[in-house]
Amino acid sequence: MHKHYDFLVIGGGSGGIAGARRAAQYGARVALVEAGRLGGTCVNVGCVPKKIMWNAAHFADALAISEDYGFTLPAAEFNWGSFKTARDAYVERLNGTYLRNLDSSQVEIFRGWATFESPREVRVGDTLLSADHILIATGGRPMVPDIPGADLAITSDGFFELSEQPRRPLIIGAGYIATELAGVLHSLGSEVTILLRKDILLRGFDATLRRTVMDEMCSAGISILTGIHMESIEREANGHLAVRPQDGDTIGGFDCVLFAIGRDPATDAMGIAATGLETDSAGFIPTDEWQNTTQPGIYAVGDVTGRQALTPVAIAAARRLSDRLFGGQAQARLEYENIPTVVFSHPPIGTVGLTEEAAKERYGDDGVKVYQNRFTDMYYAVTPQRVPTVVKLVVTGPDEKIVGCHVVGRAADEMIQGFAVAVTMGATKADFDNTVAIHPTAAEELVTLR
Ligand code: FAD
Ligand code: NDP
Repeated sequence: MHKHYDFLVIGGGSGGIAGARRAAQYGARVALVEAGRLGGTCVNVGCVPKKIMWNAAHFADALAISEDYGFTLPAAEFNWGSFKTARDAYVERLNGTYLRNLDSSQVEIFRGWATFESPREVRVGDTLLSADHILIATGGRPMVPDIPGADLAITSDGFFELSEQPRRPLIIGAGYIATELAGVLHSLGSEVTILLRKDILLRGFDATLRRTVMDEMCSAGISILTGIHMESIEREANGHLAVRPQDGDTIGGFDCVLFAIGRDPATDAMGIAATGLETDSAGFIPTDEWQNTTQPGIYAVGDVTGRQALTPVAIAAARRLSDRLFGGQAQARLEYENIPTVVFSHPPIGTVGLTEEAAKERYGDDGVKVYQNRFTDMYYAVTPQRVPTVVKLVVTGPDEKIVGCHVVGRAADEMIQGFAVAVTMGATKADFDNTVAIHPTAAEELVTLR
């Protein structure tokens, strides 16, 4: 069977679904191919189940200080298995919602693996699909290092399959996933170790943020081992897992080893060679500012492009592409500056714009001023813990334009979105000063900085 469309989307994740529905809304004939579960990484093995686990951790953290707040409660036990069932059921409901939304948008769905046969033709099983425009939104998958014993470990995908809580997990990696999952598991009662090949978590984030999170994780009791290059993973005689570093003694006694060392693009088994488009050495598909690949008529969005691998980025890039191709908006494109992001760490990070380091690189040391305050949220007024909050503004020029806004601390995750609007609009320090504070909140500290 052969079918032709205006727009063919490969990948039914965040970017693919958003781009397909937006194009269909303009009256384009759209087909979408998905090999796995609708919703892609975010819905099935990413943001959604992760945030639900983070919420569970939040609950555990609150229970831990319930006595400080005057509650006498029986000892609480977390039932990982029953919570997983509830979490999976929610994800399944979302899969259904995505299916209904695509159906109601009149996007034709093909279930199966898409492989290019030519720059305009894609095979899915027995069906040959062709289109005037093709969008690659195939995302990525967790990276696994090529070392002996790697198959003894899991990745974030495996984390969401665990039917029992790991009691002594080792997490290898230094980015978003390592930081987030370590915090979640620790709050839920696991004895967590993180293994870094360098010396700090969250490289690329503002130094104040990463230092604060790392210090807090250490003082909460998470063990962070630095400067360790693993050579292999092995099973010990007692059944536990151990990591053998390049130098030094084996580190063992783990019931779970989890790699969180980045993600590979899903471009290796889809006949990319038949399109003639260029990928980079890691397999990502470079795009220009309009999401064009090097092959006319083929576009890419989301994780597969190697740009900021965040759900709202994939969605926004895809929607703007469809606005441009089918909505008569010739100038529609995603501006990749000032993309806000949250790390659901303990405590969480909310950040938008340039780090202090990047601002100084761009504007020179003398061209940048930093306003910062560190305090303890009132939430901890009656508890022995003193988890810090740090708010930081990075400004430049005589009008003190805000080029970076960074928060680490309780509720930073919910705080940053509104401030990101202000930064995107070009707010100055004076605009923040002229905004009346909301008291008593932690967020007010951002408009009262001296
Ligand atoms: P995906 O969502 O990965 O979708 C790609 C789809 O293409 C998949 O469904 C796949 O099955 C399909 N596919 C691939 N190849 C083919 C083929 N040849 N034929 C047919 N189908 C194919 N981002 C946030 O913004 N906030 C978060 O809190 C957050 N948390 C995360 C937590 C974890 C553990 C992980 C792993 C990621 C997280 N992310 C988060 C990142 C976010 O999930 C991704 O940026 C987002 O899902 C990327 O969307 P995408 O459309 O590019 O790809
Ligand atoms: P990240 O890119 O965030 O971090 C991976 C880090 O692991 C690297 O930066 C590197 O840090 C370290 N690393 C790489 N290779 C090795 C190795 N062989 N041994 C030890 N450490 C290594 O990747 P993640 O897998 O954590 O997440 C993937 C992407 O998913 C993120 O970049 C993010 O875009 C997205 N995501 C977003 C979330 C959110 O929005 N809250 C949550 C989760 C994921 P170093 O060089 O310092 O050693």
